Amino acid sequence: MKPYKPEKIFVERAVQDLPITRNVLERLPEVPTEYIDSRESLLQESQRWNPTLARAKKSLILAQYKGCFFKPCPGSRAREGLKSVCCNYFVINYASNCHMECSYCYLQSHLNFPYLTVYANCEDLLSELQGAFSESPHRSFRIGTGELADSLGLDLLTSYSVPLVEFFASQKNAVLEFKTKSNCVENLLDLEHGGRTVVSWSMNPRFIQEREEHKTSTISERLEAAERCVEVGYPVAFHLDPLIFYERWEVDYKDLIEEIFDRIPTSSVSWISMGSLRMTVPLKEMMRKRFPSSFLPLGELVPSEDGKMRYFKPIRVDMYRKVLGWIKDQNPTLPVYSCMESPDVWRKVFQSTPSEEELGREILHSLV
Ligand code: SF4
Repeated sequence: MKPYKPEKIFVERAVQDLPITRNVLERLPEVPTEYIDSRESLLQESQRWNPTLARAKKSLILAQYKGCFFKPCPGSRAREGLKSVCCNYFVINYASNCHMECSYCYLQSHLNFPYLTVYANCEDLLSELQGAFSESPHRSFRIGTGELADSLGLDLLTSYSVPLVEFFASQKNAVLEFKTKSNCVENLLDLEHGGRTVVSWSMNPRFIQEREEHKTSTISERLEAAERCVEVGYPVAFHLDPLIFYERWEVDYKDLIEEIFDRIPTSSVSWISMGSLRMTVPLKEMMRKRFPSSFLPLGELVPSEDGKMRYFKPIRVDMYRKVLGWIKDQNPTLPVYSCMESPDVWRKVFQSTPSEEELGREILHSLV
């Protein structure tokens, strides 16, 4: 993967002396830097200038996050309107937007602020987490960082992973997940992680990666990065999401699953999730404009209760059942779950509809 190099860095004065800011500026001394009072002033500028998204991603902003970093995953039923089976997941968002370019990325139509932003006030994030964990010592937390950005895509610039992994290493009731399509694991390899950080990769067959996941690490690079993490004892996980329906999907996904388990010992894999392609109308329009050669918007997708379009239910169920079978052939006891799917689909695929707590416990059982 080609490393990200912005054309310009904006630094909010409130974070100019923080370690994350210093890391970025030390690693990119040649990039022009401007100090600003607040990133909101850039929002007004971007509305006037109206840059393309690709252009806007060439600016990196180091800012202070003033809200709550730590939240329940917005896949929860209350917000989405779909009665989906949830996995009791939490998110922390220390960055927003991504320099990679997956044609199906929902951030394209979801974020109203187009520039890449990293929130440098990591100390505030850690003290917020410490407060939440101490308040509920009997509860187990599984926390992801990849909702509004790729978890590790910028890590070679920010080293955000270092304080996070070290913090989680000493937590009794919490596990951190870095979810990525990059191979940027260099910073992780020498850290005392205590087995409390799971490094996970979103995976698709090479046919899809080469056509639809632009500027990401190749499948071979992702697997090589997973091997390096396993070598130093990290638990790893994989997300087969979005599953894409195309002529050779059965052969390609089966091969992919076999390749993962050929290279990664099943005892090191903590979980695998499956999710099918989903998009909204604005995202579909954006994809057509930004990625005219993508075949994904041409697929037959129908609206679901939450307003998102998905493959017909029988197609989704068939895909999940087959993929689940191929995973279980490799390891019958590995936790596998589906993201953003209805109880009806769950019953048809898994023969059960666990509660949020049950599913969360099952996914975490090997780690806490
Ligand atoms: S890597 Fe993830 S966040 Fe980045 S463009 Fe692809 S889907 Fe979006």
